[in-house]
Amino acid sequence: MAYGDERVVRRRVVDLADRRALEQWRPADPAVVAEATRLKEAALLDFGMTTSAVTSWLYSKCRHHIATTAVGTAAVVASGDGSCLLLFNPGFFTGLGLDGVKFVLFHEARHLVHRHLFAEPELREDPVFTVAAEVAINHVALIRLGRTGLPLLDGEPTGIDPRVVYEDYREDLLGQGLEPLGYDHFAETDMTIYGELKRMKNPPVPPPLCVHLTEDGVPADQETVDAVCSSVLLNSLLAARRGHPAAEGELLDLMDRTDGATDRASRIWGRLGAGRLRGQTSATRRVDWWQRWLVDVLASKLREGERLVYPKKRGALLAALGQDPMLSRRGAERTKVLVVAYDTSGSMPGHVVEWLTDLVGRIDGVEAHWLSFDGCVMPFKAGERVYGGGGTSFQAVADYVEGRTAVDGEFFDERPDAVVMLTDGYAPHITPAEPDKWIWLITEYGDDWPEAHSPPMACHRVTTGDR
Ligand SMILES: [Zn+2]
Repeated sequence: MAYGDERVVRRRVVDLADRRALEQWRPADPAVVAEATRLKEAALLDFGMTTSAVTSWLYSKCRHHIATTAVGTAAVVASGDGSCLLLFNPGFFTGLGLDGVKFVLFHEARHLVHRHLFAEPELREDPVFTVAAEVAINHVALIRLGRTGLPLLDGEPTGIDPRVVYEDYREDLLGQGLEPLGYDHFAETDMTIYGELKRMKNPPVPPPLCVHLTEDGVPADQETVDAVCSSVLLNSLLAARRGHPAAEGELLDLMDRTDGATDRASRIWGRLGAGRLRGQTSATRRVDWWQRWLVDVLASKLREGERLVYPKKRGALLAALGQDPMLSRRGAERTKVLVVAYDTSGSMPGHVVEWLTDLVGRIDGVEAHWLSFDGCVMPFKAGERVYGGGGTSFQAVADYVEGRTAVDGEFFDERPDAVVMLTDGYAPHITPAEPDKWIWLITEYGDDWPEAHSPPMACHRVTTGDR
């Protein structure tokens, strides 16, 4: 997907997933590249600190940021191998200046999230939906970034102006003798914009001003988009639950604009357990409460310090060279250690194990250790098949994670921040050394004794029936 103008509609000169070829293709003047890179860094730093946690997370997940003249503007490439690249034309960025670069980066990030939430082919194939997406994204960008107009390039506004599209809509509807909505109502959600544009006699088709490179050979692998975006949303949600007010505000706004719009969008929000942010959940939808509960309780157990740190050595070096020192992003004060232990003596519901593996895999800054246990403990790697035997001992897990016993001669030498136990609960009760770090997921018909234990521990039943 690319922000921009008709300059992107050129024949692909290089493979847009080929990093080296992109860098080597007609390199721009090094001074321009340096300035464009500085603007990009400054914009991303600002997103992380204030305006958009979602945008900040998204670009932190783009493995490489490449200045290249192989694209006319800027684009995010989602490759089939699961990786994302940010490509930007250095001349385009220097022409836009910092405010313009921020607008474009926000716009592109939002496109990916939009593509994740609304992947239905019938929507994707409708050119009116494409325009509606542009309007929705730029409407939000103007508000979030506190702008009164689109970014300027060579003195001219670039992109689709939501107010201009609205004026056309208003005239069209009045011409048909229909009642148009006011602007605020029209722009209320992504789907009201689409629905209202569909009422037009002559709905707008995508003008050449914003061309999406997806139709022009920019890889936009849906699986990659989904994986990256769901991770971005989850991490933003965890940040919000940890008390990051900007992330909370942004997510609530994004939910208000999209939740309930389509089954897919509702499912995505529901699976995230994001309803907890609103302090409510839909009564009509089936809710996997335990999943919401776990996301929440993990967020509190994995609470971290300030994400942005001032790198002293590097900062001093940069200052000596006459450059602005930058704050850098760091996952956490230290990597958080999470232990997930499966009781294999009973039958472990496959989809619960799968969901948990996926969830843990998507949380940044966490080092996960996987254990299976029955009468004894067996470490394994995520995704490996786990075999179980007879007898169950929670004490065996506690002894191992608390460093008292070794497995195959190896002691566990980490101090976990959280221990998740997935079990039916049937085994002698234990009191771990740090009970507040233990989270018990009890399978159906199991015994949820940890809740009533002294001291009580975080405990929830998982629903293992049909989903
Ligand atoms: Zn766009």
